[in-house]
Amino acid sequence: MAGRVLPVIAERRRGARGIRLRADSVQGAVRISLPARGGVAEALTLLDRHRDWLAAQVAAWPRALPFVPGAIIPFNGADLHIDWQASHSRTPLVDGDTLHIGGPRAMLPGRVLRWLRATALIDVTVGTHEIAALVGRPVTQVRIGDPRARWGSCASGGRIAYSWRLILAPPEIRRNVVAHEVAHLVHANHGPDFHALLASLDPNGRDCKRWLARHGAGLHWVGRETA
Ligand SMILES: [Zn+2]
Repeated sequence: MAGRVLPVIAERRRGARGIRLRADSVQGAVRISLPARGGVAEALTLLDRHRDWLAAQVAAWPRALPFVPGAIIPFNGADLHIDWQASHSRTPLVDGDTLHIGGPRAMLPGRVLRWLRATALIDVTVGTHEIAALVGRPVTQVRIGDPRARWGSCASGGRIAYSWRLILAPPEIRRNVVAHEVAHLVHANHGPDFHALLASLDPNGRDCKRWLARHGAGLHWVGRETA
């Protein structure tokens, strides 16, 4: 399909009634869900019959954006140009729209990733405590990870986790996700009280969901080596 390798992931789901085909733009894979038993022949037919549809979906997927010298990656809602020179400092340094970074070339992707994760953690930790102070609830832990399906989560005991990829998004998007998770410290649901509190914490956040729906998949391709 336009020269792209397309992994197919088949999953059996107990309780699934039929066979479902889905083009997963986050993972970059075709997902087929099958009932607990059987369905393989039908799934292959379905796959074959939807070849054109899949090609159209895949053509619209984001492109992988590996951390290589000269790459331009999204960072904090703007473009960041990776300027790698072996002789540059190994400690990444941002100057305007450029990230200066040194050390061995082979270490570049890991170094950029660690820097992004560290920067993300500092940013969301500060933001979380700031907004949590407004609602007067304690936060016991802020961590970051790389979940596929969510941007943030809030567990009991005041433990909040975020996707490090939020640092790639504009600050107002990050703030909205942080406000959302902090609002869960008060309301552990998505009821009217939760939404009223979220609106008071982040009055301008209404369009953030739309932004993430539109651009979120692309953030998952940042740092990926191959299409
Ligand atoms: Zn929620």
